[in-house]
Amino acid sequence: MKFVSRAQWRARPSRYALTYIRSTHGVKIHYEGTAVPASLARPENHRQCAARMRALQASHLANTAEDYSDIAYNALVCPHGYVYEGRGAHKKTGANGTATLNSAHYAVCAMLGNSGLTKPTDAQLAGLRDAVEWLRDSGGAGREIRGHRDGYPTACPGGPLYTWVKDGAPRPGGSKPEPPRQFEPFPGTAWFKTAPRSPIITAMGRRLVAEGCSAYAEGPGPQWTDADRASFRRFQRKLGDSPEHCDGWPGPRQWAALKVPNQGLTPPSPRLAQALTPYGRHFMTTATKRTIRTLIQGIVALAVALPGIIDASGIPATLPWVAGALAAAGGLARVMALPSVEVLLDRIGLGLVDQEATPR
Ligand SMILES: [Zn+2]
Ligand SMILES: [Zn+2]
Repeated sequence: MKFVSRAQWRARPSRYALTYIRSTHGVKIHYEGTAVPASLARPENHRQCAARMRALQASHLANTAEDYSDIAYNALVCPHGYVYEGRGAHKKTGANGTATLNSAHYAVCAMLGNSGLTKPTDAQLAGLRDAVEWLRDSGGAGREIRGHRDGYPTACPGGPLYTWVKDGAPRPGGSKPEPPRQFEPFPGTAWFKTAPRSPIITAMGRRLVAEGCSAYAEGPGPQWTDADRASFRRFQRKLGDSPEHCDGWPGPRQWAALKVPNQGLTPPSPRLAQALTPYGRHFMTTATKRTIRTLIQGIVALAVALPGIIDASGIPATLPWVAGALAAAGGLARVMALPSVEVLLDRIGLGLVDQEATPR
């Protein structure tokens, strides 16, 4: 955030002590609503913006009808994307129309008018977003982003800015898609133990061949086989890993060292992944994610091992509950073997957390 403090724009002190406010439902977006010269948006004219702040404050302090104690807004944003501290965080605004509305939301004003400069620049929209996030982080602002006209009869914040507000006040440039991963993310050791069939296995095999670690009589192909495991063991030895880490089952660090090209697999349901993303990415700590993933991997490992366990225990596999358990385990192992499941887990924020855990 390009932040300009009151001291930096040389604000006058407040006339009266500003009312402390602990939190709000969110932020209301405003515009100046008078004529703002279109030339203000030119890069070289940013030097006028601090003077514009001082003029706005002076006009508010001179407004005897409103009897403002300071500039009315909590923050203002110039066309160059700078966020100017107005009343600031935890201060009640004077801009929303009534005492109730002023207590409910902060007020952030764009330097935009009803003539001249009427459309926000991308830098300005990014700055408005910065101001909103600043008030959330530092001022206890809630999630709401509204226009001044929401709940009060006014044209503010003007058509173009209100359209942006109604669209959810997006940061310009879209939803910031994550840069494509150059290398295939680690699918998890348990995944390999399910004997998966996947383009990832082919790509891995090709890399193992390139590293001079081939134990393939034929292939490599998409089906995980003992030849893949033997080849990977050679790679583990090439890395100089200790014998207990040379078991042929890929670990996160070893996988990263192999640099398998990204296969660009898409998850089965982007909408589901999208719906779950906030929970995964923002509401789970790394430790929680690691625990959940370890649990999932444990379940998969058990599912893979279950036929052997039942076989070794001498329980007749023809018993109905045993057959059911075996069928369920087989199904689970097959589902988890789908590379798209790994991608899905990654999308919901459960992916790759074990990369930081056990160094193997
Ligand atoms: Zn307004
Ligand atoms: Zn500026």
